[in-house]
Amino acid sequence: LFITLEGLDGSGKTTQLKRLSNWMQKRGVSPVITRQPGGTATGDRIRELLLDSRSVHLSPMTEMAMMFADRAQAIAEVIEPALASGKTVLCDRFTDSTEAYQGGGRELGSEVVLEMHRLICGNLQPDLTLLLLPSLDKSLDRARRRNDRTAEKNGPDESRFEGEQDAFFRRVWEKYREIAHRDSDRVVAIEGDLSIDDVHEQIVEAVSERLVI
Ligand code: C5P
Ligand code: MG
Repeated sequence: LFITLEGLDGSGKTTQLKRLSNWMQKRGVSPVITRQPGGTATGDRIRELLLDSRSVHLSPMTEMAMMFADRAQAIAEVIEPALASGKTVLCDRFTDSTEAYQGGGRELGSEVVLEMHRLICGNLQPDLTLLLLPSLDKSLDRARRRNDRTAEKNGPDESRFEGEQDAFFRRVWEKYREIAHRDSDRVVAIEGDLSIDDVHEQIVEAVSERLVI
C-alpha cells in the first residue's frame, strides 16, 4: 500500500505522518516512512540545493527537474523495493507537490509535470493521498510563518517573498484543490480548520478503508 501526504508548508503533514505511523504500528504494520525531496543520500543532497535559496538560484524548470531527479532515486532505492516486498509506504510529499508548487506556484502548468511523471516515474500512483488543506486564509497564514522561519535560516526566496509570497501560496492551494477534484478516487482532501486530533481521526478512517490488517 502506497500512501502519500500532501499539503502546504505548515499544514501538519509531518505531525500527521508520525501519528499515522504510530497508529499502524499498534496494529502490527511497520510502514516505511520517507519524504520528498530527500529520503535517500542522493535526495538529501538534492534537497539541500533546493532549499539553499541564499546561494543557489534555480529556474522553475530546473527546480522541477530536480524534484524528479530526487523522486526517481527515491522510487528506485526506497519506494519500489518496499512495495515489492509487500510493505506499506508513507511518503511525505510526492508528485502532487510538484504539480502544486512548480506547476501551480511557479506557473509551469500541470501538463509538463504530469508528462515528466509518466516518463520518469512510470506514472506510479499512490493508492491513497491524504491532502491536508485548511481554508485559504489559514493556509496562507501558516505558510507565511513557516517561510519566515526558513528565511532566517536559508535566506529569502525572492519568488515567494514580499507581495509574491501570498500569490505563490494561493496558486499552490488552488492547484491542490484542482488535483483533489480531478483525482477524487485517489485523493482524500481533509478540508476545514480542524484540530490535530480531528485530522488524525479522518486520516485513520480513510486508511482503515484501504488497509487490510
Ligand atoms: O514539506 P517540506 O519540509 O518537505 O518542504 C520543504 C520546502 O520545499 C518547503 O518550503 C516547500 O514549500 C518546498 N517545496 C517546493 N516544491 C515542492 C516540494 C516542496 O517548493 N515540490
Ligand atoms: Mg513537514
